[in-house]
Amino acid sequence: MEYPELTLLIGGRAVPAGQRPGLEVIDPATREVLGRVPVASPDDIDEALEAAHRAFPGWRDTAPLERAAILRRAATLMRERTARLAWLITRELGKPLTESEKEVATAAEMFEWGAEEARRTYGRLIPGRVGGIRQMAIPEPIGPVAAFSGWNAPAITPSRKIAGALAAGCSIVIKPSEETPAIALEIGRALTDAGLPAGVLNMVFGDPGDISRRLIESPLIRMVTFTGSTSIGRELAVMAANGLKRATLELGGHAPVLVYGDADPVNAADTVLAAKLRNSGQICTSPTRMYVHESVYEPFVERLAERARSWRVGNGLDAGVQMGPLANPRRLAAMETMVADALKHGAELAAGGQRLDLPGWFWAPTVLRDAGPDCLASNTEPFGPLALVQPFRDPDEALALANRLPFGLAAYVFTRDAATARIASERIESGVVCINHCQASLPETPFGGVKDSGLGKEGGVEGLQEFMQVKYVSQM
Ligand code: NAD
Repeated sequence: MEYPELTLLIGGRAVPAGQRPGLEVIDPATREVLGRVPVASPDDIDEALEAAHRAFPGWRDTAPLERAAILRRAATLMRERTARLAWLITRELGKPLTESEKEVATAAEMFEWGAEEARRTYGRLIPGRVGGIRQMAIPEPIGPVAAFSGWNAPAITPSRKIAGALAAGCSIVIKPSEETPAIALEIGRALTDAGLPAGVLNMVFGDPGDISRRLIESPLIRMVTFTGSTSIGRELAVMAANGLKRATLELGGHAPVLVYGDADPVNAADTVLAAKLRNSGQICTSPTRMYVHESVYEPFVERLAERARSWRVGNGLDAGVQMGPLANPRRLAAMETMVADALKHGAELAAGGQRLDLPGWFWAPTVLRDAGPDCLASNTEPFGPLALVQPFRDPDEALALANRLPFGLAAYVFTRDAATARIASERIESGVVCINHCQASLPETPFGGVKDSGLGKEGGVEGLQEFMQVKYVSQM
């Protein structure tokens, strides 16, 4: 398979690089330069804005069933093209091909969910105070959307934003990550091939700061949606607030895992480790801070470390590989700093802890035991294959530990006791709580964080509503 020529997508046209400067896209498993993504000029961005603005009324007025048909066709095309799409994800991001195939399937499902739910954007009739009056609350699409997605779920994240906006009847300008542009462009191509009218979806790449400023400050944009780090999310939220625009922000996490004394430590360790090492730990819901009751602490740590040591790490294109490289050298440097700091603060290495002697940005699956609250990794999202384990004595202490950080995206609880599960799910400050498993998000469920982990929801009915505003119509 060949890596494609990278373009922008503006007004239904694939715009080639031409004289524009380019940014290198690098395969993290080999450090090979795959291609160059064109940097959009201010004129390109303005053109994308104009295209989204012009396309909005037509798309808004397209019947939901017609919109749904296009989204469904796009999903079918993505499924038919799975081999190519998955290959692109693995080349750009590094994760194993089987994981990439699952990501393509989930991304296609995002469009199917949007297609199904578009026909159910119901309003409400409110009884009038006098006869002969009709009072209606009518949801309508909010308008052209500016979207920004990260590199770590390079098909799912843009798909969730594009599917939500399109299903609701909005047009969109999206800036996917410059580190994973080809997969995003393929999603755009599936929508174009499915018959999406020109200008409803536009894609630009370039300097993230310049592009986000120009898009968010434009009066043509009515909503902002971002997935990435908390610090950038905060900046974009301020810009959106200045323009009184809605912002949904899906930001970093630092997911706690509570393993109570009545849980099976081996089963819990197996479940948590598989979730931890998915995409080399570069997932915002990745289980990271593991608080384990002292009665099951040793068997839990032992199993976690044993599984981590036996995990097969390598090029994601090779059969049997369970974990690929880190996506970029920034993550490798972060792992080095965090592990050295944790050891200085008294943590002990139970597995991994070093680079691997392979050509790309590889880091061994790492388990740090007795990692206290003072080390860097206990406070900053590692976004890598790093698990921190610490014992607890009583349930209140465990809940306090789970809530000790300003993040609140996902949390995991392992217990066989219904009352413990209920109390934990009520008291943990988090957008998502999973009991006895680690599947934090699906196309049909609401996903999003509290506190520093974000604002608003993506996915589910709630996610679709983010792209809509309610108009009150009162008719005599
Ligand atoms: P980063 O903050 O530099 O970038 C994160 C994403 O935001 C990238 O896709 C980037 O292109 C984009 N971005 C950066 N500046 C932007 C701006 N001004 N306007 C719009 N988009 C902008 O971080 P990074 O080095 O790529 O990743 C580091 C951290 O980011 C990770 O540790 C993790 O906490 C977080 N992150 C979270 C998610 C998530 O799914 N919530 C995704 C990617 C990164």
